[in-house]
Amino acid sequence: MKQINQYIDAVFHDSDPILKEVISSIKENGMPSISVSPSSGKLLTMLVSIAGAKNILEIGALGGYSGICLARGFGEGGMLTSLELEEKYAELARSNLTKAGFGDQVSYMTGPALESLETLTADQKRFDFFFIDADKANYNSYLEYCIKLAEPGALIVADNVLAGGSVADPGAKPKRYTEFMKNFNETAANHPRLESLLLPIGDGMTISRLRE
Ligand code: SAM
Repeated sequence: MKQINQYIDAVFHDSDPILKEVISSIKENGMPSISVSPSSGKLLTMLVSIAGAKNILEIGALGGYSGICLARGFGEGGMLTSLELEEKYAELARSNLTKAGFGDQVSYMTGPALESLETLTADQKRFDFFFIDADKANYNSYLEYCIKLAEPGALIVADNVLAGGSVADPGAKPKRYTEFMKNFNETAANHPRLESLLLPIGDGMTISRLRE
């Protein structure tokens, strides 16, 4: 899987100075290097653009890499709401989104995402695209909140669902989140309100579409 992803990144990923700077800023600030892969980022841009999504909810901002990829897909009139536990991370993400030209099109809610999701639900907010990329133990709860907050036909994308291949390969070293991802994948695959598929890009992304 690693070789295949290296091949995809090498052939299909254009050199991107803005995203390279984001990666450097994350390292300089002593934050973990766990942004989405270049190909996963490109997939996010393409999905938002193809879906014509304008109102996006991201769960897990880190330094803004995936935020920029999502914002690149929505163009003018789009808005990204991003949930992030760490105030310091949200600040760097905001600064990077601003440098990329999306400062007026992003807002951050800091603190545990489950609390922010409760607030958004109480405020009856609606989104047409979701990206789940935070603590793996809560993926199933995040999925249920996304469904509550979704416009008909909305897309819900989740990252790291292959857990380094360990969900499918008994020989692969298990990760601490392998069981959470197995459980999430089963839920997304069998949910009566979703049509879902898993793409083996990066660490794996599920794409779920809310049935209308
Ligand atoms: N999506 C980002 C990107 O590709 O640029 C990477 C996100 S990183 C894998 C996961 C992020 O989720 C971290 O920034 C972490 O602080 C955040 N996080 C972890 N637990 C969280 C929680 N309970 N609520 C909100 N954010 C959380």
